Amino acid sequence: MGIIIQLDEHLSNQIAAGEVVERPASVLKELIENAVDAGARHVDITAEEGGLSLIRVVDDGAGIQPDDLLVAFQRHATSKIASGRDLFQISTLGFRGEALPSIASVAKVRCLSASESGGLGRLLEIEGGTVKRHEDAASPRGTDMSVSELFYNTPARLKYMRTIQTELSHLSDVVYRQALARPDVAFTFSHNGSVLLRTPGNGDLRQVVAAIYGSGPAKAMLEVQADGPDFSLSGLTAMPIETRASRSAVTVIVNGRFVRSPAVVQPLLQAYHTLLPINRYPLSVLHLRMHPSLLDVNVHPAKLEVRFSKETELRAFVEAAVKEALQSYAYIPSGTAVR
Ligand code: ADP
Ligand code: MG
Repeated sequence: MGIIIQLDEHLSNQIAAGEVVERPASVLKELIENAVDAGARHVDITAEEGGLSLIRVVDDGAGIQPDDLLVAFQRHATSKIASGRDLFQISTLGFRGEALPSIASVAKVRCLSASESGGLGRLLEIEGGTVKRHEDAASPRGTDMSVSELFYNTPARLKYMRTIQTELSHLSDVVYRQALARPDVAFTFSHNGSVLLRTPGNGDLRQVVAAIYGSGPAKAMLEVQADGPDFSLSGLTAMPIETRASRSAVTVIVNGRFVRSPAVVQPLLQAYHTLLPINRYPLSVLHLRMHPSLLDVNVHPAKLEVRFSKETELRAFVEAAVKEALQSYAYIPSGTAVR
């Protein structure tokens, strides 16, 4: 008899959770992504105690069919990709089918969902990977997902959580990024009973920027808009007088996904050239769109990094687009732009 065994599902979910669920903000990111992938127009987010006691996301998206609800919490269960070929053309935020089983293995989860309006929905409660309740229940179309007592059964993890304030600031970052990524979706975010963010969901990026950074900075941003054969870029970028000390002033969204991408940030900064004081960054929100086949999002489970197959062309495109935006407001004398 050999000594190698296959781990049972519960244990393997807990191990996967170590990767997927680092802190409350990682849970929130997964839940919001699921709501957005379901085509929600409204996403209402509530958290308590930095998300350690409760994270709740209610959406009006497509919902989960009653017979699928239990399946959704199984490992590698996804409705988003079906074959290896799909992996090279991902158009959803999620695709790994790992979030729900991982989260449910280290928290108490309650999910109420219905896929038809006025129809019957289903309620599922799972604690630490064990199903506690699974029954038909009335529900509006959409999904109501609550995650409470995160890490209640993994005390070693819980011990590493920072203060409520720190966890809250990570939660806010996640909400801000998603709100900036999808101005067409109305987000609300409250923590311990107070509303921290409300976006209109009317598609106007400037209004989302105003809700997050204030209306002053939002008004002082220039419009970026460019279309090329492979890419299109739109968004807002600050006049060179409005700069910040942190690189996080720049938000890059690629095909609706928040990413960290030097391939976009560097040419943006290049476009400002000497207008930008050293180590200062413009407040910017850039939406880049391209065919999903030009993009590899399957790089890291946290999915903040992507690879571009036409990076050189992309860099030139971004720099030219931002230069044009700055030029149109006469911050760069015409003629000096490199085309
Ligand atoms: P992934 O998002 O990678 O597919 P998840 O574990 O996050 O994996 O979710 C599993 C499945 O559950 C999804 O593919 C989707 O079909 C369903 N699902 C999860 N959350 C929602 C939601 N808010 N609305 C509709 N369906 C959902
Ligand atoms: Mg998901």
